[in-house]
Amino acid sequence: MLPRLPLAAFLALIPYLSLAATASRAQELKRFDGYQIVRVEVNTQAELAALEQLGVEILNCTPGIGPMDVLVSADQLAAVRGVARIERVLQDDVQGMVDRERAPLAVAAVDPFADFFLSYHPYEGIGGIVWYMNELVTRYPTLASMVNVGTTLEGRTIWGVRITSNAVVTKPAAVYFGCEHAREWITGTVPPYMANYFLENYGVDPQITDLVDHVEFFLIPVFNVDGYIYSWTTDRLWRKNRRNNGGGVLDGVDINRNWGEGWGGPGSSGTMSDPTYRGTAPFSEPETRALRDFFIAHPNVRVQLDVHSYSQLILWPYGYTQALSPDQAVYQDIGSAMKSLIYGVHGVNYNIGPLYTAIYPAAGVSVDWTYAQRGILSYSYEVRDTGFYGFILPADQIIANNEELLPATLHMTNSDWVRSPLRFEFPNGLPSTVTAGADTPIFLRIIAQSESVEPGTASLHYRNDPSGPFVVTPLTPLGGLDYQAVLPATNCTSTPEFYFSVEGSGGTPMTNPRQTPTARYYSTVVVSQFLTFFQQNLDGNPGWTKQGLWLWGHPTGGGGTQAGYRDPTSGHTNSYVYGYNLSGDYPNNMPEYSLTSPRIDCSGRSGVHLTFWRWLGVEQPAYDHAYVRVVSDNGINWTTVWQNETEVADSAWVFQDLDISAVADGQPTVYLRWTMGSSDGGLTYCGWNIDDIGLYSTLCNGMMGDYNGDGRVDQEDFNQLLTCHAGPDVPVGPGCAIFDFDADADVDLRDFAEFQLRFTGP
Ligand SMILES: [Zn+2]
Repeated sequence: MLPRLPLAAFLALIPYLSLAATASRAQELKRFDGYQIVRVEVNTQAELAALEQLGVEILNCTPGIGPMDVLVSADQLAAVRGVARIERVLQDDVQGMVDRERAPLAVAAVDPFADFFLSYHPYEGIGGIVWYMNELVTRYPTLASMVNVGTTLEGRTIWGVRITSNAVVTKPAAVYFGCEHAREWITGTVPPYMANYFLENYGVDPQITDLVDHVEFFLIPVFNVDGYIYSWTTDRLWRKNRRNNGGGVLDGVDINRNWGEGWGGPGSSGTMSDPTYRGTAPFSEPETRALRDFFIAHPNVRVQLDVHSYSQLILWPYGYTQALSPDQAVYQDIGSAMKSLIYGVHGVNYNIGPLYTAIYPAAGVSVDWTYAQRGILSYSYEVRDTGFYGFILPADQIIANNEELLPATLHMTNSDWVRSPLRFEFPNGLPSTVTAGADTPIFLRIIAQSESVEPGTASLHYRNDPSGPFVVTPLTPLGGLDYQAVLPATNCTSTPEFYFSVEGSGGTPMTNPRQTPTARYYSTVVVSQFLTFFQQNLDGNPGWTKQGLWLWGHPTGGGGTQAGYRDPTSGHTNSYVYGYNLSGDYPNNMPEYSLTSPRIDCSGRSGVHLTFWRWLGVEQPAYDHAYVRVVSDNGINWTTVWQNETEVADSAWVFQDLDISAVADGQPTVYLRWTMGSSDGGLTYCGWNIDDIGLYSTLCNGMMGDYNGDGRVDQEDFNQLLTCHAGPDVPVGPGCAIFDFDADADVDLRDFAEFQLRFTGP
């Protein structure tokens, strides 16, 4: 008689047993003995094409010009060297990685449900991905059900799990899907992880309960089912679907180049053997047709998340053109918050941006179609890591990877674009400060999603005292979708809070920011004046500290031949600027080189902002870097207040206003620094050009002229004015800004005259 194994242990063996059976039916599992993964510098399209012609596998999810990770056999290594420079070897034993990934867990410890995220799983069979979804449905029958999304080329079902409660009937939907590219196994763990998290926390965590009550989730672990199964049975590094293109080799179609928006454009290939082969026509593949039809059949879908690996990126439309989408500001806002949320969990950095500029052009991708054709908020992740393990991410990172994606994914799904029947936009932004004694207009737009605006219901709610009630005033319609709100004038002692409300045509009340499950408001700071206390227009050489090719002088319009635009041919005002290489691009492989200001005294200043005009070209931050930094402790701990989060390619002077108050407020020893570099060996851009640098502070410590804050402008204040009065063009002394009535950064006779007018007696 056989020894009795615990049931769990037996179940855990099954996927591996069934896998072995499938593999022997198909063909032997491809071996990677002697293969390495190397990172090569691809500098031109010709080099990229030459590399592809060698028959080596480019592993980046989106191939292009830049550092490319390439799978090479021992025989191919010399040929690759002949085409492009090998920067480094990422992995020298690919077969070892594949073997380690497949080693089953210690059998006795395995509970195939509870331990699901400790290892990767095949699609089918007990313990597999479909089994796990069915198990969720069995365990949470009132919240979860299986969804048939459609059928693949080889006749398999693309399964998803639908999760929502019956609390509300009409609701928006969210679609998250993984494994559009077969070998990106980590991405197939994301939808089931979210599914389990939602189900486990429903009725426990108010935010999750609210979400599951008000959003219909369709979570699809594996979109490219045939390719995924093939990556288990035959070729671990298979990417595309299983289309036989008729060229003698079954080489598949990249279904993330097969969507209809911008199909056939840059970053997709018409060559059948290429990794980005787009197919014969938009939606030529049954997989893309199935998911397209699923979106059309579910018009309530308002957010989709297409999960890829690897590179650690948050991406949004467009992929097929460098034009920014009309909703770029919304994507950027939500994307920046997602980046911070991911970083906050395990300190892992994700870069963000539109696909075209944050990685490479990629035409025919899912996010472009769902956004442009369905009005869906559409993001794509490239998840862990940045290439060390690449697609073969060790299973012990599955949970950490999903833990850090969770809050960002919730944030995206909770956005107004998804959750509200109407959506508010603020094309000019919301006021972070308001001026004491003056009305503050706010321009806004209300976009109909599932309902339109009930006339006369759009309102502003505000209060100046956080413990008081809100006052409601109607918004002024400006025609079309546009409205104006006015925050009424208030004084320096108040801390205004506000929100907006509107009723939908279906009777749904909604607010912005959304007030459920906890009340949230916008808040703003009252300032009485902006005081510019430092100005450097660079019209004469200020002699700041320079490294490398930083120079003060006349820019010559050079550079920009490889990427981006040229340098300017003059300053923002007058001729002169500080620039990195005034006559061309920054060089390849440079370290960080900085321009540093002399000491600036910010004592007595609050709410300090740095302003300057920039004309900058720098490649995306996977390769090249530009920074603005500030220090207040004698150059010890520099704080980065700005860095390029995407490619920057200015073709005109751009105004910058950076809040440096956290570092500079009240500090007597502040230095500013602009840094160029580091750069890699790829493309170079025109680099930094800066002009018209200023610092301003914000002031709201009572009435102008009332130095001692007793509510009167009297003799005591006059005595202080005499101390502060230093004449024209002498910088305002510490604490003296309250006498700078005309805000020209000095206390002179004009301010003296203004003081006399306001004098309330001794
Ligand atoms: Zn991918």
